[in-house]
Amino acid sequence: MAARGRETAGGGAGRGRGRYGGDPCEHDPHRPLAVPSLEEHTLKADPTAQQKLLEVQELDAKADQLRHQRANLPELAEIVALQTTRKSSDDQARDAQIAVDDLTVEQQKVDSDVETVKARRERDRNRMDQGLVTNPKDLERMSHELESLERRITSLEDDELEVMARLEEAQRTLDEFSGKVREADEQLAELMLARDQKTAEIDLQLAKVEAERGPAAEGLPADLVALYDRLRVQKGGVGAAELRQRRCSGCQLAIDNAELAVIKASPSDLVIRCEECSRILVRTSESGL
Ligand SMILES: [Zn+2]
Repeated sequence: MAARGRETAGGGAGRGRGRYGGDPCEHDPHRPLAVPSLEEHTLKADPTAQQKLLEVQELDAKADQLRHQRANLPELAEIVALQTTRKSSDDQARDAQIAVDDLTVEQQKVDSDVETVKARRERDRNRMDQGLVTNPKDLERMSHELESLERRITSLEDDELEVMARLEEAQRTLDEFSGKVREADEQLAELMLARDQKTAEIDLQLAKVEAERGPAAEGLPADLVALYDRLRVQKGGVGAAELRQRRCSGCQLAIDNAELAVIKASPSDLVIRCEECSRILVRTSESGL
């Protein structure tokens, strides 16, 4: 491990050149894959630039954390869950509305049928009461008709009651699910307001971090920034780490003594890489060297 570390830290330049020089594929000096690897071992940057890179890393980590926080607000999951529940209630409310509409039509029809039959009974009774029907056969026929009309009215009134009961039940279901939809809408409005407030607060903090990042990154060498950016993508957002108390603060692993000696002996402008996690390892007064 120490030998590998030594290559990374100090002797990398020679090793890199030797390796790539001897590679039969290395006819084209602009091969994109070879260039960064070579850079990684030879990269130099002023110690001040390396310190600044740590500040940039800190700001980038803060911005990443804020963006993560913004994308994972608890309200977002609650909104999705509530929208699903709301949709189900809304579907049931629509079904209930259709049932209410159908039963209202049915009720109107049965009401109108009752009225029609009652009107006919009324007419027949009036005719009999007024003595307009005198023929015994007609009287008998009319008496039968009145009995039949009574039965029909009773049957229609039973239907009427049954339709009314079904309509009431459908109306109850409609009220219940409409209530659930309203309740969900109120909760959704509250959640969306909370989401928007929290998002706005995070955006404000993000804007501050981004405003600080510009000056912090100013003047950093392009090759150092390119390496840092690439490592950030590969290493979960952390491309540069402080060598602190003999430990890489990127992977938290202790650097062994042999490796520490190599780092200590390396020129201060050589960009050191952690032999465990490959991150840029920046030396500070707290490094314990
Ligand atoms: Zn590390």
